[in-house]
Amino acid sequence: MIRKNYINNRWQEAKNVKTFSVENPFTEEIIAEVPNSSPIDVDNAVSAAKSAWKKWKLLGSLDMRDLLREVAVKSRAHDREIASIITAESGKPLIECLDEIEWVASIFEYYSEIGRDQRGRVVAPVTPRSMSMVVKEPYGVVGCIVPWNYPLLLMAWKVAPALAAGNTVVVKPSEITPLSILHWLKVACDHLPKGIINAITGYGETGAALVQHPDTRAVAFTGSVETGKKIAAMAAKQLKKTSLELGGNDPIIICDDVDIEIAAKGTAWGGLLNAGQVCTSLERVFVMESIAEAFIEAVVEETKHVRLGDPMEGQTDMGPMVSKAQLKKVEEKVKRAHTEGARLLFGGRRSKKFKKGYFYKPTVFDRVSSKMEMMNVETFGPIIPIQKVKNLDEAIELANNSQYGLGCNIYTNDMEKALTAADDIKAGSFWINDPLTDNEAAPFGGMKMSGGGRELGIEGLDEFRESKHILIDYQIRKKDYWFPYNLDAGRKT
Ligand code: NAD
Repeated sequence: MIRKNYINNRWQEAKNVKTFSVENPFTEEIIAEVPNSSPIDVDNAVSAAKSAWKKWKLLGSLDMRDLLREVAVKSRAHDREIASIITAESGKPLIECLDEIEWVASIFEYYSEIGRDQRGRVVAPVTPRSMSMVVKEPYGVVGCIVPWNYPLLLMAWKVAPALAAGNTVVVKPSEITPLSILHWLKVACDHLPKGIINAITGYGETGAALVQHPDTRAVAFTGSVETGKKIAAMAAKQLKKTSLELGGNDPIIICDDVDIEIAAKGTAWGGLLNAGQVCTSLERVFVMESIAEAFIEAVVEETKHVRLGDPMEGQTDMGPMVSKAQLKKVEEKVKRAHTEGARLLFGGRRSKKFKKGYFYKPTVFDRVSSKMEMMNVETFGPIIPIQKVKNLDEAIELANNSQYGLGCNIYTNDMEKALTAADDIKAGSFWINDPLTDNEAAPFGGMKMSGGGRELGIEGLDEFRESKHILIDYQIRKKDYWFPYNLDAGRKT
């Protein structure tokens, strides 16, 4: 099946007619060909978005609300078919993909409301009988570059607030998972005015052309630190606004006052959700010495019961990894962990249960240290490394000993410990007794090398608006502080 780019609400072939293949990581079959878009295609999409912007930015708030709400309604109405496509292209279990669509719908609902509620403010004027207004206005055309692990959700985190703020967008899906976005555009966005959402498929070069296009005034990116740095450097040449949501190596701290079984279940889920391919996956587990043996045993037990299988099946906990390349990266990382002296407690290899599919067994290590690669560099795989610590101070120090600062988690019943850790650990999200739970009304994003900018919440809307001060004097009148100056008379406003 050959897919096309979506420009001006029409399906268009790439000008160079080149395509590339999309693979199902469970069956290892090619499921579609999509355009490998050139800078000419990028230019067409940006031009469409630029023309559409002239009307879209002036749309009344009620019309805007209704159009965005309709996206939510249609997304839910087509949830099963869109979710099946995400599963087919990514290997993520269908249940997680249905959940992803529900999040997409609720994000469109959320921004349909706050987009019309938070337009700016009036501040005290510096002269009598006048008014100062701070107005938030859209940038224009926004380039949205998306990764493969939550293809639709991470697109929605950008597109919904960007549109609600009055921008139009060009989306560049990941080359690994472009199909769900294309299908969603067909079934959930066909009522939107021409050109406000456009999508062009391609590799990094297509993304780079979008970043460098002079008419994209802002770029919202989610992906790796490496690509984030390249985008920041390209955008800096045109002093273009960027929002960068990058990688992590998130810690979880397990205190000694917890229900060990629940903490172990939460840790296994947070480490293995979507085969560990989540930016906020639990990648460093710090457990207090006094409960370490029991906790480690419980995590291993949980991990043994994780059911690998066909991601379309309702009883599958973990599907294959997204690609052969991602599987290889994890294999190499595990090999190096062995060499560095970590102790393997479970897994540590590909699953032999399946003839096809990029399955890696859920894996648990202990005897790890902060000197080892997996405790320093994001793995993005189903690996749970556990390190014993003496006390909370040591856990906080190790949690902070990282180039990343995306999320951090803690299990404890002691709120003094929890909030001390929340105060002292540099991370954009801090979850107490509830790993990895986002809230569309609260900001999400990273500190340190995990990026800059925030998605979700009012902060997520502000990423797509710039402030303008409008000052109004009620009358046209001469001001005392104009020429000619007279120092002795003092300066009056
Ligand atoms: P990636 O950086 O390889 O690719 C992301 C997107 O950028 C893709 O669409 C890709 O085609 C595009 N791209 C690549 N090179 C480019 C360039 N030079 N210019 C413009 N665009 C370019 O990341 P990935 O492998 O798709 O995703 C995994 C990474 O994403 C992980 O590091 C993960 O932690 C991170 N991530 C972060 C968050 C977050 O919110 N912080 C969420 C999910 C994933």
